[in-house]
Amino acid sequence: MFNLLQFLRAHLIKCLLLFAILLISSSFYTTSEDWGFFGHRRINRMAVFTLPPEMLGFYKKNIEYLTEHAVDPDKRRYATKHEAVRHYIDIDHWGTYPFPEVPRDWTETLMKFTDIYAINTTNDTIHLFGNGVMSRIQINFSKKTSTYQSFFVNNVLNNYYEDNWWISCDSLNQLLAEPIDCQTAFAIDRFSQHGILPYHLLTAYRQLISAFKAQDYNRILRNSAEIGHYIGDAHVPLHTTTNYNGQLTNQLGIHAFWESRLPELYADKEYDFFVGKATYIENPRDFFWNIVLESHLELDSVLLIEQALKKEFPADQQLCYEERLSQMMLTQCEPFARAYHARMDGMVERRMTASVKAIGDVWYSAWVNAGQPNLKNLTARELSRLEQEEREEIEQQFRSGSPKGRAHSENE
Ligand SMILES: [Zn+2]
Repeated sequence: MFNLLQFLRAHLIKCLLLFAILLISSSFYTTSEDWGFFGHRRINRMAVFTLPPEMLGFYKKNIEYLTEHAVDPDKRRYATKHEAVRHYIDIDHWGTYPFPEVPRDWTETLMKFTDIYAINTTNDTIHLFGNGVMSRIQINFSKKTSTYQSFFVNNVLNNYYEDNWWISCDSLNQLLAEPIDCQTAFAIDRFSQHGILPYHLLTAYRQLISAFKAQDYNRILRNSAEIGHYIGDAHVPLHTTTNYNGQLTNQLGIHAFWESRLPELYADKEYDFFVGKATYIENPRDFFWNIVLESHLELDSVLLIEQALKKEFPADQQLCYEERLSQMMLTQCEPFARAYHARMDGMVERRMTASVKAIGDVWYSAWVNAGQPNLKNLTARELSRLEQEEREEIEQQFRSGSPKGRAHSENE
């Protein structure tokens, strides 16, 4: 302890300096979440005006809720570790455009990228399925894939959210032609950590349809607000890559620059949010995947244009201090931001307004698929105690904690 004190005294100035640098860099890299809270709120709000008259009244009446709760999924990242991966997909981790290696179906994907192991009575671990191993195992029936699929759906997939992904030895041995010595068995998911955004969009879409079918005022609103968030995320090129904050190309901070700084500077003054009327989505899965793939096609421009500009702009004119919420924050200088924005030739506006239209389309299609319930007579119900507690827990964790899993806009 004595030595440490002596050391600290001798290096006090250095320590303070280091602390100051850490503070500055953390405020720089954590200024915002995806699309910023500003962007998500604006996108959900504008989506209301795409709706047909049968829906417009209900959504307009609740426009403040839809605006405010557009950021709930980001807040929930502080409360549960399962949330973060729903906001992105590092699609380039798996190959190159258009990524034929990645099945568009969730069960198929998880089957493909989940390893299954057994531990025998002498404590050896045996790799049974996954990563190409499946072909070496002799399964009970002739139709290997469909048999494996029903085993996977019935005995593996249902435990996806458990902390430890155990599988029963009995179910394994029913599958295998030759029973194995199995004490315990478990699965390892190699996929989800790289993001599950397009799959989660389909889940959220089904939840919204079921809320409409149940004519549940609260759930319709909650699911509408939340799917709006994920649709917004899917429109951001940096939500579709391993290089999500430019950390692999020496462009740290580009995530918040593109999706928060630029919309905050220009959306209200310069963007045209008139996107027309919501239209019906024939194939929701393709619809969600197309959004992600389109976003990914813009990724090169997002990165290359900033790289080029950084070389052209004097180093001391790229980052400036600005007051935000009575704190001095380091952020991109306005002229630098303006130049980046201009050279992308409307890309941020296009992705933001496309988000608005897509949200309208999704809300409308979910309502149609639920049989167009009459929304005029619905009434809000009191939140149940469980819902109330969940709400408070999310708010409290958000205010006091740090995100679980990857905070997509931060440098980690
Ligand atoms: Zn998000």
